[in-house]
Amino acid sequence: MNFTDFHQRSVDDPQGFWAEQATLIGWNKPFSETLDYSRPPFTRWFVGGETNLCHNAIDRWLDTRGDQPALIAISTETDTEKVYSVRELHQEVMRTAAIMQSLGVGRGDRVLIYMPMIAEAAFAMLACARIGAIHSVVFGGFAANSLATRIDDAQPKLIVSADAGSRAGKVVPYKPLLDEAIGRASHKPAKVLMVDRGLAPMDKVDGRDVDYALAREQHMHAQVPVTWLESNEISYILYTSGTTGKPKGVQRDVGGYAVALAASMKYIFLGQPGGTFFSTSDIGWVVGHSYIVYGPLIAGMATIMYEGLPIRPDAGIWWSIVEKYRVTAMFSAPTAVRVLKKQPAEFMKKHDISSLKALFLAGEPLDEPTAQWISGELGVPIIDNYWQTETGWPILTVARGIDDTPTRLGSPGKPMYGYKVKLIDEATGEECGPNQKGVVVIEGPLPPGCMQTVFGDDERFVNTYWSNIPDRQVYSTFDWGVRDADGYYFILGRTDDVINVAGHRLGTREIEESIASHPNVSEVAVVGIADKLKGQVAVAFAILKHPEQAETMEQKLALEGDVMATVDRQLGAVGRPARVYFVPLLPKTRSGKLLRRSIQAICEGRDPGDLTTIEDPASLQHVRDAVGG
Ligand code: AMP
Repeated sequence: MNFTDFHQRSVDDPQGFWAEQATLIGWNKPFSETLDYSRPPFTRWFVGGETNLCHNAIDRWLDTRGDQPALIAISTETDTEKVYSVRELHQEVMRTAAIMQSLGVGRGDRVLIYMPMIAEAAFAMLACARIGAIHSVVFGGFAANSLATRIDDAQPKLIVSADAGSRAGKVVPYKPLLDEAIGRASHKPAKVLMVDRGLAPMDKVDGRDVDYALAREQHMHAQVPVTWLESNEISYILYTSGTTGKPKGVQRDVGGYAVALAASMKYIFLGQPGGTFFSTSDIGWVVGHSYIVYGPLIAGMATIMYEGLPIRPDAGIWWSIVEKYRVTAMFSAPTAVRVLKKQPAEFMKKHDISSLKALFLAGEPLDEPTAQWISGELGVPIIDNYWQTETGWPILTVARGIDDTPTRLGSPGKPMYGYKVKLIDEATGEECGPNQKGVVVIEGPLPPGCMQTVFGDDERFVNTYWSNIPDRQVYSTFDWGVRDADGYYFILGRTDDVINVAGHRLGTREIEESIASHPNVSEVAVVGIADKLKGQVAVAFAILKHPEQAETMEQKLALEGDVMATVDRQLGAVGRPARVYFVPLLPKTRSGKLLRRSIQAICEGRDPGDLTTIEDPASLQHVRDAVGG
């Protein structure tokens, strides 16, 4: 079958199409209704069906692949490497599940996971899935404030964490940040389960903190049966940035997600039982959920969890992993490829990577020079794919499991099966024709795997995502796009104040709120500006309460460092702006709205755009002077 027909069928007859895909996973009880769309835009897939993500990821493979590798945990930070077979992973997950149960965690309870890229993080996620607890993984690079917001929103009964992560050989302690976050949060978790890697000392809170290794010893032979869940129960929450300072909890179901992942592994990611998948992301991001932990395991593959940099101990490390474990498919981000491109060429050719069938790249625009370079170096298809935390799996790409639709440089591809993608003129609500720029939207019902709602806030889900286009209820991706005459889409950047740094999505508002908490800052604007390596970087412009304290260059630099340290402490180094400039005035409209786009344009050497509503044109010159200096 060709892809066009495959896609057509998926949107003409979503029920028939997805009922067929549902046979890719195991069910304890069949569903009675494929799709309930009686309350748009909310979708309920596979209503009445009972399944479990952990069952599909592990138990289902015990008979046929029990002794084959399932989880390969590699750390070039601690020089450790451990392979867990399906059977071993099964046992470890049951141990962790038993620990969680002994700490009072049950079906529907939230468990917050704040961990580095170690095997125990995957055990914790899968253990939650097994017992029907809802995990909320928070990226290890986030600091106390970000963590505290997420604790208060998810209200976890248990937090699972570790003494420390490690980056470029430098230990990054987690426990002090975690204790600070719990101190700040209004909700207090009853228990905190700590993995001690022996990297950093930990202060123990009596009655609350539990040592993972000691607890594990109590449950070595634990048998914890799978809790069968109705397809629409919640599997996890994953927070993501938007236009407000308050992150949104993207909420996912069980059955729809399992089916969507199984189908995407088959049709998009060339997943085959017995193959090995290597995704270089982190469990703190959606790629880590879908394509480190759940997707590859559901497809019967081994999955690699890698803690470390792409260039340490040398720039050949990824390819040596591909060689050693006969990796069949790899998933990474353009920024990482750009990092490799700057390294000596010899590292690209040192290893036998003949097992590799394709490299998938996502998270940010894939520029043509990067795509061409990596394609030439590896000699395998480079497959760009475009999606979001909200959708859980690709919206646009090419499906090599179906046909050989060629890729087109600069385009992630075409709408995937299940997605009714449209380009809409934001002002009129009209559909755009070929080569006309519009907002990328998706018509409901969203396919399985996409977010069910914003955790605890249905209204926010509808208002944020489904209410942007006049007279039409469609899902907005908040991305600009354009489609060529052959149906290939090109993504042109965000319509909101979200920026993309090295494939990581950051809300400028969150960074602004953090900087504004500095005692000397009265007002601040954060914008994302183009960067050769990271795609974008955050840059801040701040008005000081005491400008006399930042007159000399030394004073300015010291204050800039201090502001950055504030962000590091509150949000983590991921949120830290590349530069903080001090200005006497910020460009604003007469109604007081920050003209972020004009600031961004000036920084990128472009025209600042329509300035008819600007309050004081001198403010633009201040930005120019600051950047020029
Ligand atoms: P996240 O939810 O963190 O995965 O970020 C999703 C956003 O990243 C999208 O809305 C896009 O702005 C951007 N993005 C993701 N993948 C791509 C891609 N392949 N090409 C261009 N932009 C992308």
